[in-house]
Amino acid sequence: MNAKDRISQLRDELRKHNHSYYVLDTPTISDFEFDQKLKELQQLETENPEHYDANSPTIRVGGAITKNFNTIVHDNRMYSLDNSYSKEDLLDWETRIKKLVDGEVNYTCELKYDGASISLTYEDGKLLRAVTRGDGYQGDEVTANIKTIKTIPLVLQGDFPNRFDIRGEIVLPFEGFNKMNEDRVEAGEEPYRNPRNTASGSLKLQDSSEVAKRPLECLLYSVVGEKLPIKTQIQNLEKAREWGFNVPCDAKVVSSIDEVLQFVEYWDVHRHDLPYETDGVVIKVNNLYQQDEMGYTAKAPRWAIAYKFKAEQVSTILNEITYQVGRTGAITPVANLEPVELAGTIVKRASLHNADQIEKLDIREKDTVYVEKGGEIIPKIMGVDLSKRPIDSNVTKYIEECPECQTELIRLDGEAKHFCPNTMGCPPQIIGRIQHYISRKAMDIDGLGGETVALLVNNHLITNYADLYHLTKDQVMPLERMAEKSADNLITGIEASKTIPFERVLFALGIRYVGETVAKKLAKHYKSIDALANASEEELISVDEIGDVIAKSVIEFFSSEENVTMVNRLKDSGIQLEISSEVLENQTDKLQGKTFVVSGVFTKVSRNELKKLIEDNGGKVSSSISKKTGYVVAGDNMGPSKLAKAESLEIPIITEDDFLLMIS
Ligand code: AMP
Ligand code: ZN
Repeated sequence: MNAKDRISQLRDELRKHNHSYYVLDTPTISDFEFDQKLKELQQLETENPEHYDANSPTIRVGGAITKNFNTIVHDNRMYSLDNSYSKEDLLDWETRIKKLVDGEVNYTCELKYDGASISLTYEDGKLLRAVTRGDGYQGDEVTANIKTIKTIPLVLQGDFPNRFDIRGEIVLPFEGFNKMNEDRVEAGEEPYRNPRNTASGSLKLQDSSEVAKRPLECLLYSVVGEKLPIKTQIQNLEKAREWGFNVPCDAKVVSSIDEVLQFVEYWDVHRHDLPYETDGVVIKVNNLYQQDEMGYTAKAPRWAIAYKFKAEQVSTILNEITYQVGRTGAITPVANLEPVELAGTIVKRASLHNADQIEKLDIREKDTVYVEKGGEIIPKIMGVDLSKRPIDSNVTKYIEECPECQTELIRLDGEAKHFCPNTMGCPPQIIGRIQHYISRKAMDIDGLGGETVALLVNNHLITNYADLYHLTKDQVMPLERMAEKSADNLITGIEASKTIPFERVLFALGIRYVGETVAKKLAKHYKSIDALANASEEELISVDEIGDVIAKSVIEFFSSEENVTMVNRLKDSGIQLEISSEVLENQTDKLQGKTFVVSGVFTKVSRNELKKLIEDNGGKVSSSISKKTGYVVAGDNMGPSKLAKAESLEIPIITEDDFLLMIS
């Protein structure tokens, strides 16, 4: 047999053994034989580099280094899930969805795995790339790391579609996690906090051979794409399993909310026997056709809901209440606790939210408090065990001055939190704003971390983000832990941020209430910082989805002379303060003021391309038909109830071609 054939034979064999061992859990060969074959393959591949294959089983040992993780826009947005906590919540959900479709509705119940979400793209049966959820629209490409996870097939089997995405959760089973921690403790290192964070941290390691050493697994739950040979969610799971994916077998189809609750009750107990963490059940409408009819809200599918298991609770002593100042000056009281184990991690601190919360629960230092852990990393205090209150206990008196700069705190009407108004002079606010500016979703400045920002501020080298662009290597070299190379990286990183697009710069400025999505909206509408700065409150409010709170905050930002100076300095440094002409070229306002609903399958453009075309031309995409809908763009197999609704409201139904003509 020649080398080429032997290589392909070995790859096939190893793939099958790998699938049997890791996915089916029924080994078909001894570890020794497996290693022998793998070694032989490695040897042959080294000798015959012309037969390289990015998806060979030898890739699994890792070795590839990723310095910068590329940002990739998801073909299909990764949504979040709405949560429910009680039977009533589920019944409300049922009522809502039954209004949206006709006929009987069945549900699939699946476990909600608690790890890091991932989207895998396969093309021609091969793993093309793996992308983290990120903000749902775009994430980081972590393919090299993902390939080391043995339960992820690199090459598929069976009658898989040409191209599709599959969604799943990367988890670190307890056993492997505990083993990793034992090793760390032995080596004198801090143990990892919990499996979920460790799993998600693993995806962003630069050295994939480090990832290969971690016993990560990938549990898959959804195939998405166009023209898939799938009609129900349960079939979705079955097909994925057939193609070689690791899909847990616990999912069940039921036909009523009572049965959903039985599933929840069963797993609330039995989840403790599972090898990995779960935090609830995900209930999905089984029929994909019905799913399509129901569509999405701004954040989550209407056709699915998560039911959260009741959080675990423990009691412990509250030693001291301290106060933190955030980048917007907001004060957060923090409970410093006697360390206690909760849901597998040691808890030392809990959030107390605000003064009202402390007053309402009458929380005092030295109290014994009930602590609960929900989905968040920081646990919450749920109440006080009054029977254990010491006799000399004192009512908590909320602070009146900023703990960092001693300025008198203010509390605005209708706001729960106290604020330190010393925006320009309060150190954590100065530092926090710059840290936000450089953060990944904002200016993403490589080579500059949060601690270095604090050092730069404390050494009086900078007092705001505009100062970053005047830093020199000579200035930063003397800082603690700075070396020639890191100083170079810092300066290059800052320089590189000059190409970050306007919408992200706008988010980076840290205007209160202007988060990522709002920044995108404002950037698109106003196209430049000058236009935005000149907008009146009324004009701002007239922009779609901008309310008076955001409008006021924008006005306030630009009415500060310091902010205006800072923005002008950014402009002088060459930061992108308007939408680039390239982006503008592809945009028109031909569809201004028109709302579209897209339904069915299209032939010339994909559904996502269609939506993008609508938005790029100034139109708005909505997922459900109402009186406000301007047009329904209908492809093949448009849902019958959407059709009926469009007809009854007399909304024009147009084809893909009609639409393309409209914008041409
Ligand atoms: P949340 O992060 O609370 O909005 O919940 C949504 C996330 O739950 C998704 O992004 C998935 O990563 C995760 N998830 C875990 N198990 C499932 C499942 N069986 N079906 C859907 N999503 C799941
Ligand atoms: Zn302050």
